[in-house]
Amino acid sequence: MQKGNIGVTTENIFPIIKKFLYSDHEIFLREIVSNAVDATQKLKTYANKGDFSGEMGELKVTVSLDTEKGTITVSDRGIGMTAEEIEKYINQIAFSGANDFLDKYKEDANAIIGHFGLGFYSSFMVSKQVEIVTKSYKEGAQAVKWTCDGSPSYELTEVEKADRGTDIIMHIDDDCKEFLDKHKIQELLNKYCRFLPIPVAFGKKTEWKDGKQVETEEDLIINDVEPLWTRKPSDLKDEDYKSFYRTLYPMSDEPLFWIHLNVDYPFNLTGILYFPKIKSNMELQRNKIQLYCNQVYVTDSVEGIVPDFLTLLHGVIDSPDIPLNVSRSYLQSDSNVKKISTYITKKVSDRLQSIFKNDRKDFEQKWDDIKIFINYGMLTQDDFYDKAKNFALFKDCDGKYFTFEEYQTLIKDNQTDKEGNLIYLYANDKDAQYTYIEAAKNKGYSVLLLDGQLDTPVVSMLERKFEKSRFTRVDADAIDRLIVKDSDNKSAVDADTSAKLSSMFKSQMPEMKQTEFQIEAQSMGEQSTPVLIVQSEYMRRMKEMAQIQPGMSFYGEMPDMYTLVLNTDHQLIKNVMEDSKEKTAENLKPIEAEIKGLSARQAVLRQQQENKKPEEITQEEKDQLNQCGNDILAQEKKRDEVMAEYAASNPIVHQLIDLALLQNGMLKGEALNNFVKRSIDLIK
Ligand code: ADP
Repeated sequence: MQKGNIGVTTENIFPIIKKFLYSDHEIFLREIVSNAVDATQKLKTYANKGDFSGEMGELKVTVSLDTEKGTITVSDRGIGMTAEEIEKYINQIAFSGANDFLDKYKEDANAIIGHFGLGFYSSFMVSKQVEIVTKSYKEGAQAVKWTCDGSPSYELTEVEKADRGTDIIMHIDDDCKEFLDKHKIQELLNKYCRFLPIPVAFGKKTEWKDGKQVETEEDLIINDVEPLWTRKPSDLKDEDYKSFYRTLYPMSDEPLFWIHLNVDYPFNLTGILYFPKIKSNMELQRNKIQLYCNQVYVTDSVEGIVPDFLTLLHGVIDSPDIPLNVSRSYLQSDSNVKKISTYITKKVSDRLQSIFKNDRKDFEQKWDDIKIFINYGMLTQDDFYDKAKNFALFKDCDGKYFTFEEYQTLIKDNQTDKEGNLIYLYANDKDAQYTYIEAAKNKGYSVLLLDGQLDTPVVSMLERKFEKSRFTRVDADAIDRLIVKDSDNKSAVDADTSAKLSSMFKSQMPEMKQTEFQIEAQSMGEQSTPVLIVQSEYMRRMKEMAQIQPGMSFYGEMPDMYTLVLNTDHQLIKNVMEDSKEKTAENLKPIEAEIKGLSARQAVLRQQQENKKPEEITQEEKDQLNQCGNDILAQEKKRDEVMAEYAASNPIVHQLIDLALLQNGMLKGEALNNFVKRSIDLIK
């Protein structure tokens, strides 16, 4: 028997392992089982190369649980170890600067384990004692048993062992009893070992017998040794990909399509990425891409490895070249990782391009589901935009799809304004903006439907990317002004009438929280609607951006600003104008006479002062001019009051305002109730 101390420079490494690796205790099983798999694969390699010519037998790894003894045992029939090898690989763990390192990476168990080859020692996270019983594959090898109780001292004795290979026997610590539960072990094997390349047995298969489930003699193999991503794409059918997806994400809908990744230069990477059909945001977060290293599960947080916009995809990536045992910030600067990310982006865009090219109909059918990924990619990565601009689609309000280029050609003739800008009209709610969409269509315009979650930033991006182009929502202005083609405005009403109309309607607008209205009189033709509510594209977009971009909250807090447009060509508005003229004439007469007089005086005063140098104007003269301005304002206020009083008594004014509000879904509560009552009165 040999006794000795494990070669660590830190006095006692195990308490450190236990303490710092606390959160990731469960990975001990992955480490021990994958060591067993490695040892088995090495034996296969030696056999292939002719370095081992003995009997291979059935090669599998067995995990067993003994709840009475409180042990978990992992057995393999791999290469085993000689006493010298134990000395070399297990006892001599070089541990210079251990404390520094542990301090730096205490949050990250993977980093510590990988850095020091501490894989085997992770068993001490859960064990009070670990035994290794092992016999090398080499001819005439002597079996040995190594025991260690978590202190730096170990024992090594010669033992009898019939079979080649290694048993790792872990005596589970009292405070880690949860690992002595069959279901817990099953869960861990399923998480970490599900796709290991050598069969892993845990327990026996069961069958139904006499109404009960009983164990059979046959081992239950918990893994798939040849997962789909390791196989040749040419050997696989659609159904294989779909059924693999179901094993990964049993609760999800069928994926839309998939991409089989396979590179071996300049780095190794295989995997399958699926474009999922997303039903809800919740699902987006639940299902994630899984990262493997030689078929050993590592993590499902792939940020930094996969480009951001593709983290929403599903599937697996397997690469021995991703440095897994380093911190995340290091990952992002690693050149291999950057290449991987570029490669994946390229593969994804190539695949999308080929589906688009080969089966456009299929692509269009899937577009609504994949749009969010593509939009996200175009917004965050220029190299992706450059590819995606050829297959990204616009959808119009009739459900027809166009590429960017096709759409440009479609609208070029009819939707270019007088400054040569191409105007893209869009709606984001087909029902709410129905009237506006119809009006635009009647004018021969095409209206896009941009109702996606990312369409607001996409619109801003496209305006930057496209030359001389603007996006305007159909309700941003009266139809004739959405796309201004000639500069000679049709004769609008005179300023006085316009001011009167404005004060009439403004005074009768209902109070709405965080909402303000401007009134504007416009001649829009007899056939057009008498009133219309529009919202300026600029303000609306700033507010929308404020919702998704921090730092723009200034815009977010501003009220919604709308314009109520009155069509002075429409008979109803004409009637209001005429009727109001008649009814207010008497009250307005003195006020208007006053305004006229004051205005004349104001003009004279201005004229006098204009002819003088600034320093020649006396204070008195300045005061006179100011006073005159104030008097005019006071009279105008009186005029507004007269108009308001008239408007209050005219049900048509109210009816028109309410109709406009109703059309925009803004008529609610008491105002809606009043509208209904008034309507009944009017048709009675
Ligand atoms: P790593 O696997 O990263 O090298 P470990 O601490 O897990 O680090 O293992 C150290 C070494 O011990 C391995 O490289 C291997 O040579 C040896 N070893 C561990 N487990 C086994 C096993 N089941 N059979 C044979 N050798 C093993």
